[in-house]
Formats: sequence, C-alpha cells, structure tokens
Amino acid sequence: MPGIANLASKIGKQLPIELVELMESAGLIAVSQGRCLYLVGGVVRDLLLWRSNLDLDLVVEGDAIKLAQRLAEITGGGITTHLRFGTAKLKWDKWSVDLAMARAETYVRPGALPTVKHSSLATDLLRRDFTINAMAVELIPGHWGRLIDLYGGCDDLRRKLIRILYGRSFVDDATRMWRAIRYEQRLGFKLEANTRHRLERDVSCLDTISGDRIRHELELVLKEESPEKALRRAEELGVLAKLHPRLKGDDWLAERFSEARQFSIPGVPPVGLYLALFTYSLTSSEIEGLISYLRLSKRLARVLLDTAGLKTKLKLLAKPKLRSSHVYDLLHDYSVTALTANSLATTSTIARQHIQLFLVKLRYVKSALSGEDLKKIGIPVGPRMKEILQELHEARLDMRVTSRKEEMELVRGRVGKENNYNEMVR
Ligand code: ATP
Repeated sequence: MPGIANLASKIGKQLPIELVELMESAGLIAVSQGRCLYLVGGVVRDLLLWRSNLDLDLVVEGDAIKLAQRLAEITGGGITTHLRFGTAKLKWDKWSVDLAMARAETYVRPGALPTVKHSSLATDLLRRDFTINAMAVELIPGHWGRLIDLYGGCDDLRRKLIRILYGRSFVDDATRMWRAIRYEQRLGFKLEANTRHRLERDVSCLDTISGDRIRHELELVLKEESPEKALRRAEELGVLAKLHPRLKGDDWLAERFSEARQFSIPGVPPVGLYLALFTYSLTSSEIEGLISYLRLSKRLARVLLDTAGLKTKLKLLAKPKLRSSHVYDLLHDYSVTALTANSLATTSTIARQHIQLFLVKLRYVKSALSGEDLKKIGIPVGPRMKEILQELHEARLDMRVTSRKEEMELVRGRVGKENNYNEMVR
C-alpha cells in the first residue's frame, strides 16, 4: 500500500453513511473538548484491504465515556460502560460502535488480564496484538482520514505478514497465538519469521490463560469461513496440543468440516457441529474434561456428550435391515447436531443411512390417533393408553398402518383380544 496517507475516500466508499456521520459528530465533539479522536484496529486494516468490516473501534485521548454519552444524546441511542477499562459501547438503530480511552496496559503476571491507565495513542497502539491491527485514522476536522502507521502495519499488509509489536507479546498474552493463526489463515498471510519463532518458543505460555479466554478464541476460530485451516496450522505450531494432546487438525477434519457446511444454513457457521467433529476422537471422559476446562455452555456441552453417547450406538446402527421403529428407538433421544456429527464421522455406510433416514423421515412420523381419540373409545388415561399410543407409533414407523382407519382397526383388534383374555381368566 505505498503512498497511502489518507483514508478519507476509502471511508466514504466502504462505510455506510450512518457510521460516517457518527464519526464526524464524534470528531466535532472531541475537538470541541480539545481532544483527538481516532478510528483504530481491525476496521483500519480492513479498509486498507477492501474487506467489509462494520465493527468500529474509536479511541479518544481523553474520557471515552463522556464522549459516548454525548453521542447517545445525538443519536437517541443507549450506552453500556466499563469503568475499569474506560470503555463504552454505543448502540442506536441497528448500529453499534465501541469507544475507549487511549490506554497503556501492564501485565502483573503472564496471562493475567491487564491493568490499564490513561496514555497517548502511540502507547495504545503499541499494546496491540499485531502491526496490521495497530494502525489508526484521525477523525477530527482538518485531519479527517489521516492514516497513522507508527509500527509498519501498512508495510506488513503489503508483504502479507503477521508480526507482533514487541518481543514478549505472546508471553504477556498467549491468546495472541490463536489470534495470529486466525488472521494468518483468514487473510492468506504468513507469520513473520521472528513472530513464528517467538510463538513456538513461548507456546507453553498458553497454560497461563484461563479456559474462558481460550474458549472465546476457539469460538472465534470456529466462526471463520474455513476454520479447518486455522486448526491445521494450530496443530503444526503446537498450539492445538496445548488445548488437548489428542486433538488433530488433519485432512479428515478438513473433509468433515467442508461437509458440515453443506448441512448448515449458508452464512451461519455451524459452531456446535464443528466442535462435535473436532472432539470426535476423544473419549467421553476426555470430553468431560474439556467441557469443564473451557466452561462450555450447557447447549454445547450437551452436543458434545450426545455425540459421544451416540458413537457407542454406531455398531448397532451398522446392522443392515433394522426395522424403522428400532432405528427410531436408538436415535430419538439425541440432538440433531449430534446425529449429524455422527453421520458425517462414521465409516459405516449403513449407520449413516440409518441416521439419515431418521433425520429426514422418522423423526417427523406421528400416529393419527391421539390420547383424546382413545379416550372416546373407552380407553382410560394411564399406562395402558401410553402403551397403545406407543404401539401405534411403532406401527406407523414400520408402515404396518398407514391411515387413521388402519390405526383404529389395530386398536380395536388389541382391545378385543384383551377383553377375550380377561373373560377367559375371569
Ligand atoms: P476481527 O476482524 O476478527 O473482528 P478485530 O481486529 O476487529 O478482529 P477485535 O477482537 O475486535 O479484533 O479487537 C479489536 C482490536 O483490539 C484489534 O484489532 C487489536 O488491535 C486489539 N486487540 C484485540 N485483542 C487483543 C489482544 N489479545 N492483544 C492485543 N490487542 C488486541
């Protein structure tokens, strides 16, 4: 990106008018308070790369919360604030913008959350993860759009490099290892040689990071367009082994992820399904360990445990010519994600066909007669009614009955038999 010094025209072309106007208002307010205001981080990188990004991060060399309050009055929006970090999020209509005071960060120990204090823009940019994320654009009248690139971010964008800003970067915050891999694979860049060297050398620092923070990074990876690329790279660099030594980012995973996308709503990353496939080779107790370390949500934990549970049924499901009602019995307790994960992961064609049969057909099969109908013909509510309803459902699944009339005949036949039996034993 030689010679790029002003991004005003890129801002005008790439960002919606609502966001541009908000930045203009913010710039005017900041200047009236004698402050400077900047657009920083990922959006600057993406403006330069012509990649869509509407996540605006504004940095003010002063009180960001006060500025956010003024902007909330103008837009009629609302703000949430984080006093400890001096940050605010402004939301109005369908838009949102993050505001922060320029800050310096110090780490009491590796992996700890940083202590922050007010600082200059230069220091604020220096605490960031990589040079390509450490550029800023001025937003005050007179300097509108001027690019501030103190650490060679533009150069690294041009050379397609991910480069840390200082030697101990990964020691201070090892989540940056996951971030480095994510950007590298998303953008088709390479880790700069020294950055790669430091990452491999400091990989054990991942042990200093809480499970919550690692989960956050992993979720971000799984929301990428092709997460398998980052997982492969994470394995290569020894980052994956730090999550669990038996996790792999291999060809098998890449093929399964690509199939997983075909089973999902376009544009919505199938995070649960990815995670189920990613952990497929682990035992149930290893999965339980991972769930508690990462403090996965109840929903994701259920998906992973369900997937592992269903795996133990695959042998039965691999038998040919199972009755549909038997397939239903084996599968109806599992979540759709666990079913899909197993159907993608199993090596048995027959097991896969059985799961598919359940997913596309059997799970929707219902009998026509209800408890109300049975009551009308004199069957009282209770365990016997439950048994009859179950029998009807099975008969429907196995296509022994295909209409309401045939169901009624089945019930009458059964009730008749029971009455005869009761008379005989009386
Ligand atoms: P994405 O494009 O994936 O949304 P982003 O670049 O917008 O990424 P965010 O996670 O929203 O990244 O963070 C905003 C900015 O904050 C980054 O561009 C980076 O400058 C900085 N940042 C985020 N996480 C870290 C970190 N762990 N260490 C240092 N700087 C960070």
